[in-house]
Amino acid sequence: MALDVTWAVKWLTMCAQAMAEHRLELIELDRAIGDSDHGENMDRGFQAVLDKLAESQPETPGAALKLTAMSLMSKVGGAAGPLYGTAFLRAATTLGDAPDISPAALAQALEAARDGVVARGKAEPGDKTMVDAWTPAVEAAGAASAAGANVLAVLVAAAEAAEEGAAATDPLIARKGRASYLGERSIGHRDPGAVSTALILRAAAGAAA
Ligand code: ADP
Ligand code: MG
Repeated sequence: MALDVTWAVKWLTMCAQAMAEHRLELIELDRAIGDSDHGENMDRGFQAVLDKLAESQPETPGAALKLTAMSLMSKVGGAAGPLYGTAFLRAATTLGDAPDISPAALAQALEAARDGVVARGKAEPGDKTMVDAWTPAVEAAGAASAAGANVLAVLVAAAEAAEEGAAATDPLIARKGRASYLGERSIGHRDPGAVSTALILRAAAGAAA
């Protein structure tokens, strides 16, 4: 499937479904090392995205992602709202008004999203944040695109790498955000934002399959 606006709407719809389905899991993860609101925040944020999509009917993937950024910034709250808002906004800016997305443009958009999260939150890989899902995803997408993979294969590579990156946050000590207040007591828990990032990227691949 081409990564056109139909794909983008399907992706965002699947994100909303994934956040609703994993709401309790994200709440539990955030209860362990945060304040339990991540599942609630993400579910509310993506429901708002769906409302906005129905209302504005964007005509390009970039326009759909820009509208997503605005909805997430205003509805998610906490640390994750501005971080995801920046990620979607940077990706939208990179895509411009192109009607669909090539493998190389896709890899670039993912990199821009990750760079936005880093610019905003100043976390480095290994700090036990969503950056630990974004960074391996960006690397896997770049490698797949350079090797000539199609958009679906690039998205699958990104989703798998993000899932592995999220799982790899278990033994880390949190150094950014609310979880960092726990210090060593954050060891043994998975970072909720890394898990929600993996859900978003898995939905992107699912929408292209
Ligand atoms: P809050 O911590 O304000 O309650 P959420 O619970 O919605 O916000 O989101 C928490 C997630 O945000 C964390 O699991 C982590 O992935 C991410 N996060 C927090 N601070 C940062 C940061 N500085 N850089 C990157 N990601 C961060
Ligand atoms: Mg929280």
